[in-house]
Amino acid sequence: MNLEQQLNDITKKLYGREIASCTDAQLYGGVLQLTRQRMMQTPVITGPKKVYYISMEFLIGKLLSNNLINLGIYEELSSVLEAHGRHLSDIEEVEPEPSLGNGGLGRLAACFLDSIATLGLPGDGIGLNYHFGLFKQVFRNRLQKAEKNEWIEKDSWLYDTGISFEVAFGDRKVTSVLYDMDVVGYQNGINRLHLFDIQSVDESLVKKGILFDKEAIEKNLTLFLYPDDSDKAGNLLRIYQEYFMVSNGAQLILKEQKEQGNDLHRLYEHAAIQINDTHPTLVIPELIRLLTEKEGFSMDEAIDVVSRTCAYTNHTILAEALETWPLEYIETVVPQLVPIIQELSDRIAEQYSDEAVQIIDKDDRVHMAHIDIHYGYSVNGVAAIHTDILKETELNHFYKLYPEKFNNKTNGITFRRWLLSCNRELASFLTETIGDGYKKDAAQLEQLLTRIEDPEVLDRLAEIKMAKKRELAAYIQEKEGILLDVDSIFDIQIKRLHEYKRQQMNALYIIHKYLEIKGGKKPVRPMTFIFGAKAAPAYVIAQDIIHLILVLSEIVNNDPQVSPYMKVVMVENYNVSYAEKLIPACDISEQISLASKEASGTGNMKFMLNGAVTLGTSDGANVEIHELVGDDNIYIFGEKSDKVIRHYAKMDYVSKDYYDKSPVIREAVDFIVSKEALKVGHKQNLERLYKELLNKDWFMTLLDLEDYIRVKDQAFADYEDQETWKRKMLVNIAKAGFFSSDRTIAEYNRDIWKLR
Ligand SMILES: *Cc1c(COP(=O)(O)O)cnc(C)c1O
Repeated sequence: MNLEQQLNDITKKLYGREIASCTDAQLYGGVLQLTRQRMMQTPVITGPKKVYYISMEFLIGKLLSNNLINLGIYEELSSVLEAHGRHLSDIEEVEPEPSLGNGGLGRLAACFLDSIATLGLPGDGIGLNYHFGLFKQVFRNRLQKAEKNEWIEKDSWLYDTGISFEVAFGDRKVTSVLYDMDVVGYQNGINRLHLFDIQSVDESLVKKGILFDKEAIEKNLTLFLYPDDSDKAGNLLRIYQEYFMVSNGAQLILKEQKEQGNDLHRLYEHAAIQINDTHPTLVIPELIRLLTEKEGFSMDEAIDVVSRTCAYTNHTILAEALETWPLEYIETVVPQLVPIIQELSDRIAEQYSDEAVQIIDKDDRVHMAHIDIHYGYSVNGVAAIHTDILKETELNHFYKLYPEKFNNKTNGITFRRWLLSCNRELASFLTETIGDGYKKDAAQLEQLLTRIEDPEVLDRLAEIKMAKKRELAAYIQEKEGILLDVDSIFDIQIKRLHEYKRQQMNALYIIHKYLEIKGGKKPVRPMTFIFGAKAAPAYVIAQDIIHLILVLSEIVNNDPQVSPYMKVVMVENYNVSYAEKLIPACDISEQISLASKEASGTGNMKFMLNGAVTLGTSDGANVEIHELVGDDNIYIFGEKSDKVIRHYAKMDYVSKDYYDKSPVIREAVDFIVSKEALKVGHKQNLERLYKELLNKDWFMTLLDLEDYIRVKDQAFADYEDQETWKRKMLVNIAKAGFFSSDRTIAEYNRDIWKLR
């Protein structure tokens, strides 16, 4: 049917109005229904073998424009709306963002679903339907406050499948409800994201902020996502959630496989289960339990079949983030799994005496990653340097046992969202310049290199950047009430707040520049520093770093001597939608984690694709970006990972030494507790942060600060040579093809899933 007619029919039926007279919210409702109708007519992707991507997080972002692009009707719908005096961009604003993830790990899962469907591979996501997702961040009194994030509305992308399972815990039994969202591939078919919910969930349990009764599991289980992706959850509720997800997932997989008529004794020929970090690890013992108890398998065979079906992705080497649960907790939540975990552990103990590879250690703690490695057939890291560190250091004991299981899959991002949707201007310019082959084959972006001496191409890139900076400035003025100078250089650090990511180092640079300007040294060009980050509510120092940035923002932006030369903005409630506005407008992409700590990073890839130049350490995928673009098109600084790892081994890093040695460092650090800062900020927060930096500084901020200042100053100076800078932008875009998640997924399929 004609799209205009279809939309008009829908809005008339729903609201009794024509397109032109609908409110934006009504038009959103109409367009949602139209898109869902089109998706229902799109064939489901099928094949002899299917992957199940099981993850506690799917940070999918808004879905409207992506679904329209992938269905191939974005342009048409946009013109229809324009013809009625309406704008698709206004309607996109109405959609609430599902906040089903913390950060990179959840966003990766979302990019992967898009690429799996785009490559036409059968593959579904399995996760949880958190009603309030991750918390919504608001700033009060220059501090982060957490509020519930309501995103589920009457009309949404979710639909009830009518499928439900029983899940038994040690102390209660619950019933699940399965909601699905369709995932449409770019010019391809449909896969599904399965989000399990609990039938007896009770939203009214949440009283103030994000507080609720932690005991009432049958009411609270799917209310919130545990708000951290790199610290261990000190909470039984998290194990309830994990088991609830994997038990439902395992039951769904077995049900589907039986319905397909597949022989469960050869499950591994029909299914691959990708375990996204250790959170879904219990799927291994749960499947073994179901196969032995319900399907008549012997223990030996169940273990064999499950081990040939499950594959594990490691996302972090932060020791504090590796899940180990006291056996006693698991006994409380899922006593039925304890004999199986015990059996899995005993088999390892019989074979290997090395304490480092045991599943249950001598303190009766269960090491989740160890279950995955022993009883899965693949272990992958997420960037080359990360996989190397796993093999050589963190998981070296395991690498020696199973060298054949280890492999690298450098992360990627979906270009549909992070180029076609968030930067339509750049996408159309690329199409004009190199054709649209790059949309399906990202490697074709390299053709742009042939135009590196073409002044018209270079100017157009600069113009698009300026247009996106203007758009962002208007948005920030509206949302944050801060006026930005679009001729200033936009330096952006957006990612979860964590000491290893070192937002505090960026803040110290800002202090350094502020003091320089106060001392009369004015920069050639104004600078805009933009941050976006949520901090886990229990992570005290992270809250203090947010406080410091908000204090600096207040001081800098209101100082008439300084504010013409610099602005500091911390945007409220950084999420996928905000990222889509910030990234296209960025000049300098801050990727400054302590070397060895950021497994990959994916923000770095999004920025590169949009023509920002990376300022970063030799960490995660920065290393591969560096190799691709070469020394002239990236700014690398700081100590390398081998040295950092040696500092940890020898415990010889003393931050106070760096403070004592360098007046520049001392001045910047001291400013945190200066009269000026204390006038605006809270003594308790600022002093705590100051002491942390001086006495501990676990992630070695001061180690790299001077080099950071030197290289960042160089990047700012180089920006003044705009002709050269535009070439840097071009090279970054041209070389970004490698970081398409289509490439990543093709590799997962080739090496791990082998779907076809
Ligand atoms: C991509 C993305 C991340 C991950 O960013 P990193 O810089 O790789 O940590 C986190 N949050 C959101 C909203 C993202 O889009």
